[in-house]
Amino acid sequence: MTRTLILGGGLTGLVTAERLQAAGRQAVVLEKEGTPGGACRTEERGPYHFDHTGHLLHIARDETREYLEGLGVWSRLTEHARRAAIHLGGAITPYPIQIHTWGLPPEIRRDCLLGFIEAWARQGPDPTDFSEWVLSRFGEGLGRHFFFPYNEKLFRARPEELSLDWVGRYVPKPDLKEVVDGALGLHDQAVGYNARFRYPHEGGIRLLADAVAEKLSDMRLKTEVVAVNLKERWVETAKGDRLPWDRMAATLALPFLVDRVVGPLPDDVAAARRALRWVNVLNVALGVRGPAPRPEHWFYFPEPEFPFYRVGFPSNHGRVAPEGSHTVSIEISLDPGVTVDEDLVETGEAALARIGLLRPELIEERLVTVLNPAYVVFDHDRKQAVARLRRFFSDHGVHLAGRWAEWKYSAMEDAILDGMAVARRFQASGDR
Ligand SMILES: Cc1cc2nc3c(=O)[nH]c(=O)nc-3n(C[C@H](O)[C@H](O)[C@H](O)COP(=O)(O)OP(=O)(O)OC[C@H]3O[C@@H](n4cnc5c(N)ncnc54)[C@H](O)[C@@H]3O)c2cc1C
Repeated sequence: MTRTLILGGGLTGLVTAERLQAAGRQAVVLEKEGTPGGACRTEERGPYHFDHTGHLLHIARDETREYLEGLGVWSRLTEHARRAAIHLGGAITPYPIQIHTWGLPPEIRRDCLLGFIEAWARQGPDPTDFSEWVLSRFGEGLGRHFFFPYNEKLFRARPEELSLDWVGRYVPKPDLKEVVDGALGLHDQAVGYNARFRYPHEGGIRLLADAVAEKLSDMRLKTEVVAVNLKERWVETAKGDRLPWDRMAATLALPFLVDRVVGPLPDDVAAARRALRWVNVLNVALGVRGPAPRPEHWFYFPEPEFPFYRVGFPSNHGRVAPEGSHTVSIEISLDPGVTVDEDLVETGEAALARIGLLRPELIEERLVTVLNPAYVVFDHDRKQAVARLRRFFSDHGVHLAGRWAEWKYSAMEDAILDGMAVARRFQASGDR
């Protein structure tokens, strides 16, 4: 029998194991935390359910929907039309900004509109970085007021440091008529990959991971892998156990996987590891007495005076707070290695209070978590570094799977599909 190890019990690892098990194969999942789900976990604090950060489901593929139906999850999700907005210049306007500048102060609206028209009329060379891409598609005004400060805050990198490998799917691209209509408030149609989303009726996003985890026969929680021996094919856990493997799916973050490899690394592999850049996210989840101050599901904050890049109100799309109360999720991007102190949390809450979106005296519960890593920084070295590391691991029988192991930008649906793909690949090898 082939010994299959899966490192990490987030959605990707769970689905990989579940699909293998359903096909009559065995696989052992090793998960360092006490609960499964990784980034898709929800924790209870008093009567509140807090996701580790805002997690909304966008399902585009029949295969995923059928999978969730089979798990009994689909019927427990509610579909919502996105209510997202941008806070800019003291005003609030719907997301995406490029077709909703009508809600902004007139000077900002003029800058955005003029810049877009100028960019539209200009024929330039193909853009080679995010800065050029924004200027050529959206123009100087939208760049200066939204795209540049927002993405600098989120990725903690200058726009010209970012490549174009991630933008296609995630940044909606309007045409001139849409932008002009949007400046005049003439339409309000939903645009973008997340115009509609699903979320559990109650209890938070953990529903998904829990439903998969329940099916597994061999998941070992509180089992952190601290060493990976690629030559002798064993892993060592923090408890000191050694587990042999014939093949492995690794879903933990790529740099941390490299750091666990026993023995010296080839120079170019070590260099590729050093090239990987990312940011962490500090999430401050709050349970607050009284109704939510606004009906939106979430807000984007491009301006540097606000420490957070996004703030959500999860109880506006799921039952995660008791009747008459609400939840807030404040997301702050951090450089790796920055430790979180109370001041940062307080600064975030105070900034939200200043604009009337939080009354700190009504906070009943608080959960502070750090996602490490949270966002891969798509700089110009990423592609080559990831290709080198992927080849290195693949040569040793390790398959990288999921958002952080593959060092990419992807969502929960992709995690499910990634897990299915690995399971299929392992099955196709013919080993049992
Ligand atoms: C801020 C933020 C917001 C997001 N919002 C959305 C959203 O709205 N919608 C959406 O669809 N997706 C969203 N995502 C993406 C989504 O979270 C991921 O696509 C998905 O969770 C990836 O799952 P995974 O299993 O690949 O990784 P993970 O969930 O990270 O799972 C990896 C697992 O490995 C474990 N692990 C790590 N190291 C070790 C070790 N040494 N030994 C054993 N176990 C280990 C971890 O504890 C974790 O459980 C968001 C992500 C972030 C960061």
